[in-house]
Amino acid sequence: MMAATAPRSYLPVDLAGQKVLVTAGGSGIGLVIAEAFLARGAQVWICDIDEAALQKARETLPGVHASLADVADPAQVAALFVEIRQAFGGLDVLVNNAGIAGPTANVEDVSPEALAETLGINVGSQFFCASEAVPLMKAAGRGAIVNLSSIAGRLGFSMRSPYSASKWAVVGFTKSLAMELGAHDIRVNAILPGHVRTERFNRVAAAKAVALGITAEEMRRQMLDPVSLKRNVEVEDIANMALYLASPFGRNITGQAISVCGDVQMMR
Ligand code: NAD
Repeated sequence: MMAATAPRSYLPVDLAGQKVLVTAGGSGIGLVIAEAFLARGAQVWICDIDEAALQKARETLPGVHASLADVADPAQVAALFVEIRQAFGGLDVLVNNAGIAGPTANVEDVSPEALAETLGINVGSQFFCASEAVPLMKAAGRGAIVNLSSIAGRLGFSMRSPYSASKWAVVGFTKSLAMELGAHDIRVNAILPGHVRTERFNRVAAAKAVALGITAEEMRRQMLDPVSLKRNVEVEDIANMALYLASPFGRNITGQAISVCGDVQMMR
């Protein structure tokens, strides 16, 4: 377990009353983003496919709204937004956080099903949620959308081509939406996390270590070696960037792909 030991501290922005949806907020980065927005006074809705994780989140984040929804399924996204419109009456901030690692394999060994699943969750979910959120934001005359990409959306990532392709797609989607929605004062940005200190980092390193026939520890060392700061970033670094982009301090920032990665030079 690589959880951060110090208590998390969040950017002192005032988001009182802001209505926020964080997809895949039951665990990992999404859960911490939800915690950060709640800590800054926002009303927060999370969704996830894991009911046990949602139940735990309801207990650890008092006041959070939580629904079971697979955001890769447009029908489930539509149902989620029926709930959100009824309870919140609108939406100010959408954090498109859901994303899976996808297969670790050479391109000729990636099945069409694994490719479709990776693109469906990592790109389709963002598209479906934005499609539902944008009319609410247009009606309000403002809004902020934060899409989770990855440093693999700026660099190549061997044996992870579906993931990397999906995360580059997120950047293209972000830039296109920013152009489309700027006149409505709806800002759209992407965060590109590097190697975040989470269980997922361990899982990803372990999967690639097996594929390359080396130990997981050696794989983690190799992954962090081409990082200028030579360390993982923390989950709260990602949450603080999301807070900043959603806050009035980010009012003139849109269409950007912002890395929070310690300066990753290459992906291993
Ligand atoms: P994670 O693997 O820990 O998963 C977080 C949650 O997503 C889980 O609770 C899971 O049940 C939920 N989920 C998965 N598919 C879903 C779906 N279709 N609908 C709803 N919920 C779903 O993920 P994470 O590490 O917290 O990553 C969050 C985002 O950040 C992803 O988009 C990921 O690609 C990106 N990212 C993560 C890292 C990292 O090091 N962890 C690095 C770069 C980018």
